Amino acid sequence: MTQVEKLLKYQETDEKLLKLERDLGNSEERKNYVQAKSFLTKAPEKLDALDAKAVELSALVAELNKKYQEIAETLSDFDHIDEMVDGGANIAFYKKNVTQISEKLKSIKAEIASLTKTVKDAEEEYQQMKKKTIDMQKQYTESSESYKKLKESLQGEALSVKKELDALKKDIQPEVMKKYEIKRSERIFPILCAEKGGRCSKCGSELSLAGKERISSGEVVECDNCHRILYKG
Ligand SMILES: [Zn+2]
Repeated sequence: MTQVEKLLKYQETDEKLLKLERDLGNSEERKNYVQAKSFLTKAPEKLDALDAKAVELSALVAELNKKYQEIAETLSDFDHIDEMVDGGANIAFYKKNVTQISEKLKSIKAEIASLTKTVKDAEEEYQQMKKKTIDMQKQYTESSESYKKLKESLQGEALSVKKELDALKKDIQPEVMKKYEIKRSERIFPILCAEKGGRCSKCGSELSLAGKERISSGEVVECDNCHRILYKG
């Protein structure tokens, strides 16, 4: 077997391992697990922020209510307006005052109503977030269990493929193997491709003159464009 043939055999076996890795990586179990984990990592901070917002808004409502109360009390000064008018007071002056105060109260009341709605919305958001957190905690418990099971079930198969790969590795030049492994970690696959008419059969890029020469002498060369390892096709 030539080096290229050995490497091709290695790649063929490696594809089985890649499939197992992809099966695990694309599984529902992993998806649910990662989703729950990422949600729960951010949840405490989000809940704290929502809680703080609700507290802040409630304080604002209380402040406005107090202001309303204070202004409403000034109206009681006019309770005896009839007697004051009877005593010769200027009714137009008092009427103007009462109108101004009433309008001010009306505007504060509207402000309170709008703010109360904002508080309610904030509280609702907090409750929803809390509920979602509980759901996600459940999802996390369930999915971490099923993800672990799936991992374990694939592990046996992966181990036997790895053993096969280790055996094949022994017959391959270390520097070529190293190159292959780097590319494998970069998620390039297939790594080893045939050259075709002086071009990379994967991406179509033309080889350099030196590259063509090396290929024809039986060496492997790297494609300048997609960085796959090319062999004479
Ligand atoms: Zn290429």
